[in-house]
Amino acid sequence: MNTHAIELTTRDGEQLRFECATDQNLLEAAADAHIVLPAQCGQGNCGTCYADVTHGDFTLGKHNPAALPDGAGASGTLLCCTFPKSDLRISLPFDHDRILIGEIKVRNAEITAIDSVGENTLRLELRLASNEDDGSMAEFEPGQFMELEVPGRDIKRAYSLANISNWDGRLEFLIRLQPGGLFSTWLREQAAVGQTLIVHGPKGAFGLYESGLRPRWFVAGGTGLAPMLSMLRRMAEFQEPHPARLYFGANRPEELFCQTELKALQAELPQLQVIFCVWKPDNNWQGFCGTPVDALTQDLADAAVLPDIYLCGPPALINAAEAAARAKGVPDKQVLSERFLPTV
Ligand SMILES: Cc1cc2nc3c(=O)[nH]c(=O)nc-3n(C[C@H](O)[C@H](O)[C@H](O)COP(=O)(O)OP(=O)(O)OC[C@H]3O[C@@H](n4cnc5c(N)ncnc54)[C@H](O)[C@@H]3O)c2cc1C
Repeated sequence: MNTHAIELTTRDGEQLRFECATDQNLLEAAADAHIVLPAQCGQGNCGTCYADVTHGDFTLGKHNPAALPDGAGASGTLLCCTFPKSDLRISLPFDHDRILIGEIKVRNAEITAIDSVGENTLRLELRLASNEDDGSMAEFEPGQFMELEVPGRDIKRAYSLANISNWDGRLEFLIRLQPGGLFSTWLREQAAVGQTLIVHGPKGAFGLYESGLRPRWFVAGGTGLAPMLSMLRRMAEFQEPHPARLYFGANRPEELFCQTELKALQAELPQLQVIFCVWKPDNNWQGFCGTPVDALTQDLADAAVLPDIYLCGPPALINAAEAAARAKGVPDKQVLSERFLPTV
């Protein structure tokens, strides 16, 4: 079997090399070389392993076109279904610290809280069991996600962390209950405080991008708020001075959640502006009427400095926000996103 030399370059300029056979996908070949790249579904569906091939020929196998960013072009690919036809050079849209050299952690965690925060939306809090390697610590970067195992099934679902690293093992998630969803149904019908879940991770490349003191604008739809909360909480913890805005959107006013948490954050991070956006407001709504992308577009028109833009939520929202940023001339490398796509 032919093999090809693969060279990866991270956003911060680090290089990694491995060999990949023509019938193996790049994600698997990298893992065989103990290079664990950010990825989730492994089936070309979630878009987490998106990257750009800068040199060489490849085949992109069966995948969901929605997993590729709009305007990805012929060089954009998903590593989990990319097969090399020659040696390849690949540019990764994240820094080296998002690559794990070794194995993904698998730990037990107890449910400590499970609260409804809005229609079909839960806040789930877990506490990791302590072990010899990690003690009780929960260690992850803001913006990353964990995979939670559906109890009794060999199935995992990805959820972004809403809190920040801590010594007492706390993990916080905001979860949209999907109609008929496997994990959603378990959460709705069987989950209870005190039960144990198996969690895999942390994983993922989404997160804060160090680029001086450029303003940071965060755009979230629904539970896409989770990684934004994590990043803003980290900024508050480190008292980072970047001007910051959060555009948080929902269809109806009653679907906006975490308002108390956001007020608490504003007290710690006084430069943070929160713009609540409602697409279908009632007569009492006094905030922005429209989607968070409408609000973003409006504010970009007046922006004196082009901000770093962080996007999270359903793919349609991300595609529209990326188009708005591109139209205003925001460079692609200043636009970072996490698509909440179904696992399968
Ligand atoms: C990296 C990453 C991070 C994520 N973080 C979060 C998070 O923090 N909070 C959160 O609520 N979700 C998040 N998601 C989405 C979540 O993993 C999926 O929605 C998951 O499939 C739900 O599992 P389930 O078992 O309840 O439903 P499934 O059994 O997977 O699906 C049941 C049905 O619902 C549909 N469906 C499932 N999810 C979606 C969706 N997101 N949009 C539209 N239709 C859907 C499926 O197509 C299927 O028909 C994330 C996804 C990724 C890739």
